[in-house]
Amino acid sequence: MAGSGEAHLRGGEALLTVRDLVVEYPGEKGTVQAVSGVSFDVLPGETLGIVGESGCGKSTTGRAVLRLNRLVRGTIEFKGEHIENANPARVRALRREMQMVFQDPVASLNPRRAVKDIVEEGLVIGGMAAAERAARAATVLAQVGLDEERFADVLPRQLSGGQAQRVAIARALALNPTLLICDEPVSALDVSVQAKTLNLIEELKAAYELTVVFIAHDLGVVRAVSDDVLVMYLGKICEFGDSDLVYDRPAHPYTRALLDSVPLIGSAHGFTGPALEGDIPSPLAPPSGCRFWTRCPVRRERCAVVEPQMREVREDQYVACHFPLVDGGSPEPAVSG
Ligand code: ADP
Repeated sequence: MAGSGEAHLRGGEALLTVRDLVVEYPGEKGTVQAVSGVSFDVLPGETLGIVGESGCGKSTTGRAVLRLNRLVRGTIEFKGEHIENANPARVRALRREMQMVFQDPVASLNPRRAVKDIVEEGLVIGGMAAAERAARAATVLAQVGLDEERFADVLPRQLSGGQAQRVAIARALALNPTLLICDEPVSALDVSVQAKTLNLIEELKAAYELTVVFIAHDLGVVRAVSDDVLVMYLGKICEFGDSDLVYDRPAHPYTRALLDSVPLIGSAHGFTGPALEGDIPSPLAPPSGCRFWTRCPVRRERCAVVEPQMREVREDQYVACHFPLVDGGSPEPAVSG
């Protein structure tokens, strides 16, 4: 994963390359600038976590990659193929390789269809024979820990949240995808079920050799599963890099404030400063310069005027801030774009 220019954080060929992604939602009160120029790479086999407060554009980014949103601008390359302008037939074909798991498991399943039909759905579209489909459904249901005999004919409303999310994961995996985008996959589940579901995703990631984009507002959950993490604020990336570095030595004041606002077991960034002040500004009219300046505890004049560009603060860690923090502590005067 990398964000500035064409650099790769870990080297090698990216499975997914997103550049300058812009997504907007026109509305009665104006245009919501949901994602405003986001760039990142995801390498094969890695898990990229995307974090940030609700409304910062995480879901929109994930959905745009799957071409569920119309892009205003930007490019999306998947396995070397530009898909930002792919036609509907190509997008349908790509869905076999790129699957998504959503936050609300019950709502994401067709209420009138039995579990086995839901899991087989994509295979029907793919033209697989009935007997083969049934065998495949039984296999993936077993892999997500649901006994096929017991669950095959059950309807979504008869499932618990955790079971429904297992069905949604089985449906995604039935097609043997390469990339799995998980959008808040455990935040609607009981705490007792969250860890089990995360473990399941980890196990299946290894078994299927999946590349995962894992979106969540819960910083602890994202740290537990991510190799790299990307922190978003108001439609832009403010920091990204190796997950341990970003969590233990946050360089962006926003990342540090986010980490300060939740007690994180095992967090070593060691700063006890002011948490986030004020509300998130409206995405209809984001602040000039750095979008975070209105809430930033270390802001200076320049921040409201000049938009900071992404730059490397240390190996495997990038930040878009004029005054990044040194080892999560005091701001370092810096000259940047
Ligand atoms: P997150 O996943 O980080 O919570 P989203 O990507 O869902 O953020 O939303 C980004 C911004 O876009 C928010 O201001 C949200 O209200 C707005 N938004 C999301 N979906 C729509 C939509 N379908 N129509 C209009 N605005 C939307």
